[in-house]
Amino acid sequence: MRSGFVAVAGRPNVGKSTLVNALCGGKVAIVSDKPQTTRRRIRGIVHGDGYQLVLVDLPGFQRPRDPLTEHMQRTVDESLGDVDAVLFVLDGRDRIGAGDRFVAQRVFGLGVPVVIALNKVDRMKPAEIAAQIEVASKLDDFDALHPVSARTGDGLGPLLGDLVELLPEGPAYFPPEQRSDLPLEAQVAELVREKALEVTREEVPHAVSVEVEELGEKVVRAVVYVETASQKQIVVGKGGRVIKEIGVRARPEVEQLLARTIFLELQVKVKERWRRDERMLERLGL
Ligand code: GDP
Repeated sequence: MRSGFVAVAGRPNVGKSTLVNALCGGKVAIVSDKPQTTRRRIRGIVHGDGYQLVLVDLPGFQRPRDPLTEHMQRTVDESLGDVDAVLFVLDGRDRIGAGDRFVAQRVFGLGVPVVIALNKVDRMKPAEIAAQIEVASKLDDFDALHPVSARTGDGLGPLLGDLVELLPEGPAYFPPEQRSDLPLEAQVAELVREKALEVTREEVPHAVSVEVEELGEKVVRAVVYVETASQKQIVVGKGGRVIKEIGVRARPEVEQLLARTIFLELQVKVKERWRRDERMLERLGL
């Protein structure tokens, strides 16, 4: 079994999101637009035969404008050492220019293998593709370069093959596929978890996990799992005040996600040692 983390990099509009969706084949397990509770945003997980590839975001490419942004950028840089490879996406239809070189500088400075995806070849002539490969090759010392189309799926197999080869041996970090083809439930769980951390002010951050047990038309039922009775006390709060507040904060966002009005039923349960791999969770920022 191989498993690991690949950071997706590239300037805006090159097709990163489209590519991630195509690689995950609609099996994106966790997509949260809220980066503040996880050090690293997971874009998607590719579950394959004998491997699990976690695609993560590589934000912070904008030039720091203020101290907070600068601080965030530093944090991002520090956590970068943890990725096993970088998938560097270029827009083949566009001039490979200063924006790409800015990203390239940081990407190639990480000291991990870089795989370049020259995207959008569905709209390019063979001669154009060849010319752009030539330009892209001069960016730096990459590990592999693949002309691909995130839109049509062209070239994605070989690209994925190369990425998987760069992963170290490791366990499956995420539950197998039957869980991950339910992206909405995972997203709802992530929202609830985020609010739980927010409301408990991170008193129990590493101990909280959330499972959505029912995602109905009108009722959404989720269980907030903690590891000890005292953590349960914190998350429930006096007279249920804390869990109620978690629900109050989570509901509007869940409703927005589902595009409908719902009752959000939250329960807190103790489940000992749900954390199996401390280091993995550390890497995920959970
Ligand atoms: P991101 O900002 O890097 O995440 O880029 P997006 O994934 O949002 O894509 C930016 C635009 O490029 C969108 O309009 C996509 O539909 C388009 N796009 C992405 N991949 C391809 C591709 O392979 N071929 C073509 N023709 N368009 C693409």
